[in-house]
Amino acid sequence: MSNLNNKADVAAIRSAFPILNDTTAYLDNAATTQKPVSVISAARNYYDTMNANPLRGLYKLSVAATDAYEGARSTVARFINARESEEIVFTRNTTESLNLLAYSYGMNFLKEGDEILISIMEHHSNMIPWQQTAKRTGAVLKYVDCDDQGKISVEAFEAAVSDRTRIVAMTQLSNVLGTLNDVKTFAAIAHRHGAVFIADGAQSVPHVPVDVQDLDVDFLAFSGHKMYAPMGIGVLYGKRELLEKMPPFLFGGEMIESVTREDAKFAEVPHKFEAGTVNAAGAVGLDAAIKFVRSIGFEAIEARENALTEYAFKKLAAIPHLHILGSGRPEDHHGILTFTIDDVHPHDVAYILDTKDIDVRAGHHCAQPLMKQFGVFSTTRASLSFYNTEEEIDRLAAALGELRKEMGYDDPAE
Ligand code: PMP
Repeated sequence: MSNLNNKADVAAIRSAFPILNDTTAYLDNAATTQKPVSVISAARNYYDTMNANPLRGLYKLSVAATDAYEGARSTVARFINARESEEIVFTRNTTESLNLLAYSYGMNFLKEGDEILISIMEHHSNMIPWQQTAKRTGAVLKYVDCDDQGKISVEAFEAAVSDRTRIVAMTQLSNVLGTLNDVKTFAAIAHRHGAVFIADGAQSVPHVPVDVQDLDVDFLAFSGHKMYAPMGIGVLYGKRELLEKMPPFLFGGEMIESVTREDAKFAEVPHKFEAGTVNAAGAVGLDAAIKFVRSIGFEAIEARENALTEYAFKKLAAIPHLHILGSGRPEDHHGILTFTIDDVHPHDVAYILDTKDIDVRAGHHCAQPLMKQFGVFSTTRASLSFYNTEEEIDRLAAALGELRKEMGYDDPAE
């Protein structure tokens, strides 16, 4: 395990990522992370040495592809401490995992008057599928709000959940506020009311250790591409007994046991949810990404990312006219700093930063209702990974400090 608060180790980690260099400060890691050479090589090696359609062929190449694909499933299961690898369904991304749940669980098991509870800080991926589920089933979609510090209190959650709640779907880590929600406590409360608890782990799984048995969530969705793996591979974890009672979401090849002219018998979990040819190279890349993350270790990752967040928070908070959304405490942000600058549109902020080779995200971050709650239409977000450096943050802070002047505002010297 490395100590990433040491410059030499950070330099060594950075050298594992071919795309990282000293010119561009890549600070959009919540959108997608960069890929280390071990991940790129693993995906390439799959195509170089074992590409065939997995799960179908009886010849050696296809068996190798199947073994690689199923090996990745076991790696994912161990990574999040699932009871068995059959509880891991490969999807394209978090969005697809959540849609699978909305279509297969929500639309089949909800009825009029049932309640779905989500939080105001959900990404649209964990909001729109539930809006649609509510429309189609007659269920009621309810929200639990956060306070102006970006926190969802147990009291607010208790007040929002009821004996009619059948599904609670909540992000573990907000892609806008950086809040780490106490999903373990919320899942326990949801269970007391007879609801299932779905955690959106898109932002949490890459940055904090996630143990599905300890959290006792019923489902967990996450994306490979936000955790150093290729795009196009995602995960849905589900407790076996729940996955077993859910009907398939997509129908076709690979997901059947046998077919007659009139009907089909579906394959066992998880294959009944993986219709069509799968993304084997993506799964192999995810396997390598998990091994990469584990080789660094979450203790080092968290220590580094928390230290960087604190450093960045303090620098940004000191800039006049800059307002950070959510908590005033750096330790609540988990690598995510979303902000506004008085009188400057976030798109201008991002554009000017780009002229200085600093990559950040501007817009509503797929969380429009949350933006509305905070009284903003659009914001700029810098999001960090352990491979970022203090120098990159210094460059960001210096550029943001100059920004209003560059836009023509004549601020008095501080
Ligand atoms: N949930 C959260 C919290 C996210 O941050 C994101 C990506 N920004 C998603 C869901 C959707 O992820 P993907 O685009 O990989 O499906």
